[in-house]
Amino acid sequence: MMQRTTPVELPPGYIVFFQNLESWQNEQEIFLKKTCSFPKVDLVKTLAAHKKPLVRVKKINIPAEEYKNLLLKFLSFLKAERPDTSKAVKNIEDHMASLDIDTITSQLIINETGFLNDLARDLNVSSELLLFIFDHTLRPFLRILAAPYREELIAREYNSWEFPSICPVCGAKSNISRLRAEDGHRFMFCDRCFMEWETAYLRCVYCGNTEPHTIRYLNVENDDAYQVYVCEKCKGYLKTYDERQTGTKVDLFITNMETIYLDMLAQEKGYQNHEDN
Ligand SMILES: [Zn+2]
Ligand SMILES: [Zn+2]
Repeated sequence: MMQRTTPVELPPGYIVFFQNLESWQNEQEIFLKKTCSFPKVDLVKTLAAHKKPLVRVKKINIPAEEYKNLLLKFLSFLKAERPDTSKAVKNIEDHMASLDIDTITSQLIINETGFLNDLARDLNVSSELLLFIFDHTLRPFLRILAAPYREELIAREYNSWEFPSICPVCGAKSNISRLRAEDGHRFMFCDRCFMEWETAYLRCVYCGNTEPHTIRYLNVENDDAYQVYVCEKCKGYLKTYDERQTGTKVDLFITNMETIYLDMLAQEKGYQNHEDN
C-alpha cells in the first residue's frame, strides 16, 4: 500500500503496523463470518426508541470459544509484528486458561473498561496494551455485527441519530468524517466497527451548534483534502477527508492514524475532540 508524506513524521513502521493489523482483521472477519452471525434488528427504529447505541440496547453475545481462538491468533500476530510486546504477550498466553472471556467481551462491547485495571496488574501487562489487545480482537466480531446495517444507515438522513460523534452500533467515539465526492454530504466513520452514518455538513457533532461563522475549517498548506472542522461554541474539532478535492475515497482507518498532525494543529489552537464525553 502507498503511504503519503505527512507534515509530521510518524515513528518508523507505525502506519505499516496499522495497515497490517487492518488486513489481518479483514482476513479474520471473512473467516469468522462462516460461523458467526448476530440477530438483525430494525436499527433505525431501535435507535429512535432508545436513543442509545445498539450494543447498549440489545445484549450482543460474542461466542467465547471463537473469541479465545482469535485472541491467541492475535497474540501471535502481535509477537511477529511488534517483538517489543513479546514479554506482555507471553504473560497473557500463560494465563489464557484463567481469563474470563465472557466478562471481557461483555464489558468491552459496551465500552466498559473498569475491569481491566485489576486484570492488567495480575497479568503484569499495562492496561493500555491489554485494552488494545482485547479490543482489537473484538473488532472483527463488531464488524460482522455492523455489516448488515451499513448500507441502510448510509442511505438515511442524518436526523435519525442524535449523537453524531458516537457510533450508533458499537458506541465508540468517532474522530473522523468524510465529505462524499458526489454531493459533499458528511459521513462519520467508526474505526472500531467500520460503521458510517450521515450528519449535517455544518453542524457541530458535539454540541449541535449551527450558527453561521462559528464553524470553520483549518488545513495544512497544499493538503486541501485533509481538513479539521472546528466549533467556536464548544471548542470541539472533527477531522475530515474531503473526497471532492481528489475524487477518490481513502481508507479512513489509516487516514485517522496518518493525520495525527491535524489533531496537533487543532489542539495547538485550543480545540479538543471531547475524547472523555
Ligand atoms: Zn462502531
Ligand atoms: Zn460545538
